[in-house]
Amino acid sequence: MNDSERDFLLNLLNTPSPTGFEIPGQKVWAEYNRSHADSVENDAYGNTWATLGGDETDGLTVMIEAHADEIGYMVKHITKEGFLFVDRIGGSDWATARGRRITILGDKGEVKGIIGNTAIHIRDRENLEKGPKVHELAIDIGASSAEDVAELGIRVGHPAVYSDAAELFGKNQIIGRALDNRIGGFIISQVMKKLAAEKQDSTCIALNAIQEEIGGYGAKMASYRLMPDVCLVLDVTHATDSPGIEEKQHGTVKLGGGPSITHGTANHPLVVQRMMQVAEEKGITLQHEASSRATGTDTDSIYHIKSGIPSALVSLPLRYMHSVVEMADLDDVQNVIDFMAAFVSSIKKDDSFAHVV
Ligand SMILES: [Zn+2]
Repeated sequence: MNDSERDFLLNLLNTPSPTGFEIPGQKVWAEYNRSHADSVENDAYGNTWATLGGDETDGLTVMIEAHADEIGYMVKHITKEGFLFVDRIGGSDWATARGRRITILGDKGEVKGIIGNTAIHIRDRENLEKGPKVHELAIDIGASSAEDVAELGIRVGHPAVYSDAAELFGKNQIIGRALDNRIGGFIISQVMKKLAAEKQDSTCIALNAIQEEIGGYGAKMASYRLMPDVCLVLDVTHATDSPGIEEKQHGTVKLGGGPSITHGTANHPLVVQRMMQVAEEKGITLQHEASSRATGTDTDSIYHIKSGIPSALVSLPLRYMHSVVEMADLDDVQNVIDFMAAFVSSIKKDDSFAHVV
């Protein structure tokens, strides 16, 4: 990763973009992709996609997709003493919320807050070890009345994210909030940049979709419009190699172990087969996961649009998902970029991913 790529990655990760409020991150993503894509467009809700036209006139259209939104909180109630009570945006983990810095995205810009933590000395002994419920989290922004809060430009309905920024870490890792899944937005941008440097038969669309964390709605509306011939979805997956995770229950995925592909449900067997061929040809080691009901990603939203879009999921291993210390390995990031680019390059005019029965 060169300096400008690293700067783009950190800027993208550190731009707050909670579900339903993704436009700031989408602007960063769009601007970067304008430098190598033929076009960058968006729809009414902020789904944003970059297109690279293929050389073959009747070539296929391949879509690569990642979601742009991050989890967060939303102001639900403001007390007369000036404290904010919140609800979750997506799957925020309230068990780790107390004592954290939080940024509220208000009408007058960002407002810093902290999630109050009653001191261990004076907490109810009986519930000392119990996590709080979401409605028990109180945010202190240094205001002493509801009027103070209003003065700062904060009202009910404003979103918030943890203030923690991403940083390069350890031997070859990156940590931070929102790696799920803006690191995916970074990866599909790098795939496009790589593809733009050489001739491709197929047209490639990189879709950075909104609102995954609450049910994959952005991917649904954008796929209906774009209707590619084949689609690779990129999200993060749980690395199960940190202490306290039962592999018998959650499978084996290692941080630094390479891209993980998923078998079953939304994952079209012929697309998965092509992924495995491409990985073998390129010498990229894959990890494998099972989906017996749903993948829990945008793949579930995309594959059944209209008469069906042959799709498959590729995942970046991630430790500590939905926390402020999500951790990814930079070799995995590079391997996913190389793998997805090789998949798109492998698609030729006469390819079909339709079963013959
Ligand atoms: Zn995700």
